[in-house]
Amino acid sequence: MHTATHYDLIDTHAHIMVSEYDEDREAVINRALEAGVSSIVAIGMNVETSLAAIALAEKYNNIYATVGIHPGEVSDAKDADFEEISRIADHPRVVGIGETGLDFHWDTSAVDTQIDFFRQHIRLARSTDLPVVVHDRDAHDAVLSVLNEEDASAGVVLHCFSGDEVMATVAARAGYYLGFGGIVTFKNVSLGNVINAIPSDQLLIETDSPYLSPHPFRGRRNEPARVVHTAETVARLLNITFEELAQITTQNARTVFNLPA
Ligand SMILES: [Zn+2]
Repeated sequence: MHTATHYDLIDTHAHIMVSEYDEDREAVINRALEAGVSSIVAIGMNVETSLAAIALAEKYNNIYATVGIHPGEVSDAKDADFEEISRIADHPRVVGIGETGLDFHWDTSAVDTQIDFFRQHIRLARSTDLPVVVHDRDAHDAVLSVLNEEDASAGVVLHCFSGDEVMATVAARAGYYLGFGGIVTFKNVSLGNVINAIPSDQLLIETDSPYLSPHPFRGRRNEPARVVHTAETVARLLNITFEELAQITTQNARTVFNLPA
C-alpha cells in the first residue's frame, strides 16, 4: 500500500451530495483525505444536487462544485431549471458546467431534448469560461459532433470514458480530457490500449461515486477514497509508478478545472 504523505490524488467526478451519503458524508470525506485524495469535484446532476454541491464546496476547502442537468434528468427539467443553473454557475466555488451530455442507453425517448440541453450547457461553459463535464453513454458520435459544432473551447472532460482507441485519439486531438474510473479495474475489461492512446497530460481519474465501485468493491456503494484503486490500475497500464500517475493526473485536474495548487 501507499502512504498518503507521498502523493496526492484528485477525484474529478463524485456525486457525494446524493442521499446515499446522508448518514456518513463527513466520514466519507475524511476517509478520502486520509487516503491521499486532496480534492474532490462534486458533480451536480440537476438543480437540487448542483445547489448541494455548492453548499458542500462552501463548507469544505477541498471540495469544488459543478452545476448542470444530467441527460437522464432533462425530460423532467423545466426551462426555469436551466435558468437557475446559469445563475448559480457564477458562484466562486463552481469549477465546471455539467454533468451534461447524451445517454442513448437509458433514455432514447428524449434525444432532441438531450441534445438541446447539451448545447445550452456548452454555451454556458463558454460564456463562464469553465470546462464542460460530459456524460456519454452509447452516444459517441453524437457527443463528438455536438462538442465540435458548439466549439467547446474552455475545456472538455469526457468523464467515465467508454470509447475505443480511435475515439480516444480523436478526442485527445481536439484537446479534450478523458476521465477513467472504477471500470478500468474490472477483471473483464481491458482499457490498456485506450489509455495508452491518450497523451498523459489529458488523463484524469475519478470515481463517479456512488456508482461504479472499483474491484474488489464492485457492486457496493463507491466513495472518493477508492480513486486510489483506479490510480493503481491506470499506473500499471501505463507502466509508470503510482506516484508518477498521481502527480500527472492531479496536475491535469488542476489545469482543466483551474484549481489552486
Ligand atoms: Zn456522474
